[in-house]
Amino acid sequence: MTAETHSYDVVVVGAGGAGLRAAIEAHEQGARVAIVCKSLLGKAHTVMAEGGMAAAMANVWPEDNWRVHFRDTMRGGKMLNQWRMAQIHAQEAPDRVWELEEWGAVFDRTPDGKILQRDFGGHRYARLAHVGDRTGLELIRTLQNRVVAKKLDVFMECTVQRLLTAPDPATGGERVAGVFAYWRETGTFVRFDAPSVVLATGGIGKSWQVTSNSWEYTGDGQALALRAGAALMDMEFVQFHPTGMVWPPSVRGILVTEGVRGDGGVLRNTEGRRFMFDYIPEVFAADTADTEEEADRWYTDKKTARRPPELLPRDEVARAINSEVKAGRGTPHGGVFLDIASRRDAETIRRRLPSMYHQFKELADVDITKEPMEVGPTCHYVMGGIKVDPESQATTLPGLYAAGECAAGLHGSNRLGGNSLSDLVVFGRRAGAGAAAYAATLAGTERPVPDEAQVAETTAQALLPFERAAAGGDTENPYQLQSDLQAVMQSLVGIIRTEHELTQALKEISELRQRAERVAVEGHRQYNPGWHLALDLRSMLLVAECVATAALARRESRGGHTRDDYPGTDPVFARINHVVRLRDGAVDLTAEPLPEMPPELTSLFDPPAPAAPPASDVPPQSADAGQ
Ligand code: FAD
Repeated sequence: MTAETHSYDVVVVGAGGAGLRAAIEAHEQGARVAIVCKSLLGKAHTVMAEGGMAAAMANVWPEDNWRVHFRDTMRGGKMLNQWRMAQIHAQEAPDRVWELEEWGAVFDRTPDGKILQRDFGGHRYARLAHVGDRTGLELIRTLQNRVVAKKLDVFMECTVQRLLTAPDPATGGERVAGVFAYWRETGTFVRFDAPSVVLATGGIGKSWQVTSNSWEYTGDGQALALRAGAALMDMEFVQFHPTGMVWPPSVRGILVTEGVRGDGGVLRNTEGRRFMFDYIPEVFAADTADTEEEADRWYTDKKTARRPPELLPRDEVARAINSEVKAGRGTPHGGVFLDIASRRDAETIRRRLPSMYHQFKELADVDITKEPMEVGPTCHYVMGGIKVDPESQATTLPGLYAAGECAAGLHGSNRLGGNSLSDLVVFGRRAGAGAAAYAATLAGTERPVPDEAQVAETTAQALLPFERAAAGGDTENPYQLQSDLQAVMQSLVGIIRTEHELTQALKEISELRQRAERVAVEGHRQYNPGWHLALDLRSMLLVAECVATAALARRESRGGHTRDDYPGTDPVFARINHVVRLRDGAVDLTAEPLPEMPPELTSLFDPPAPAAPPASDVPPQSADAGQ
């Protein structure tokens, strides 16, 4: 029996932008809300977001509108996005930015006092509302102030281990009944009973060696959802941001914002060549400058000049850098040069990119106003995640909602920069509303009661690493396992993939899962990071298997998923999302047809977007998918 139990209408797991916005909305709809987060309030990943949030506000370019933003998002995602999510996002993002301003966010301004918007890759117009290169910090500060003002209950340094479920009389299956967690500081357990839970736990990048993600990104939300019976979608699509730091080794992977390129920075190889002109794909050729003169003119003349190729979507730029390094034209530390020093004056660089200036000065002893930066691809974002309904963010498990990076659908196979911060507030709000509305339908005795057996089972499972250490024998160290998993994901499920490598990855992940059954931890339960990691590993390994399984099944290259053995796009795969569920404990993949886009939206594309597939065209689950 758990010593500590709380009861709420809605429990939001995660205090990043998505979680905070969901909690505010659920509270405003009259629900009793708790926010539970693994780290301290204000420390979520969202704080690290630099460049800005995308919204077609037309402050800098009056020509901009939601339709152009929708089209850019779909094209960036290579048309695999859930079109309705892309539409809602493009339509509602401006309101969410103005709302943040109303709540106290201090955005940079245009000379005539409007919210300033900056250029980012894949966006037709300057569209990112920003606060220097510290936009995420301002977003969190603003939402957090509101959460505090509304006196919402926040449970910090509290890690959710399991979604609790109970029988659902409405469906005959299971529904959410709460969450089970442990306090990081004391190691004691705590239970939150609630008919609605919103997962807003962020991404999965900590399973790769070179990553811009922090220790928190272990895929907990995705694994919690999967284990409770919900489905994941598009897990093969992991974004490798083209520009992470490559030197010194201790900071490898830390992000270098796309804002550097948006503000005029260019990529060069060791021969001094602006190589992105050699990598302009056909689909973007009409919108991309093909001479340096035109590309440079674009910064001041967007009417007659086309965009520089450095601002192509991230997947294109990351692959180009990868190819240059492989061809022997990379820097001594395995990257390429990103040069803004020779293109903008020192005062502008320090004013526009203050965090980048300090980051390089302090971590790499490089003055970016005088020298180029060395950069290379870094694991950054997962487009896939928990499958949700576009309108309410409801998952396939009644009572469970998901928003932000842990949810799937908006970004398709590749996310455009700036579309995450707007995603968080647009769909965080909808998830909060959906969760509150669902909870409101369950009065008194209709509320689900968590299953005590699940609580007892999870408690016992969580304490196993200590028992193994006490018993001695053949045990595994959690840090070694994490390091081995990162090596597998980096080398076999990285930026370029092959069938042979993915098959090998699945075999190695399976071995790692067996080794994880022997993970042991010394010491006690008070603030024991080794124990925390041992518990996180369960999520990391399960999610890693989902990524490799979906990547093996998608025999084409699209967006963030590049197969060396299937380098082109395939029209059959253009029409399906891969959906993953757990069946009898095993990862099971199916292909589901994309929803049909209405004609008023297909007509925005030139050539028009392909029609939805007849069901018979959708490939059956591939023979290798379940391996
Ligand atoms: P997060 O902000 O990561 O919050 C996750 C929350 O879940 C945290 O509070 C964490 O403690 C909690 N949590 C996780 N697991 C558990 C658990 N088991 N139990 C309890 N709590 C848990 N996007 C843009 O649009 N524009 C940008 O300029 C931009 N720049 C970026 C720069 C960097 C360096 C990085 C890494 C990302 C950037 N992104 C940007 C992406 C964007 O910041 C993230 O996708 C977004 O912030 C994710 O927000 P979230 O609310 O989904 O999750």
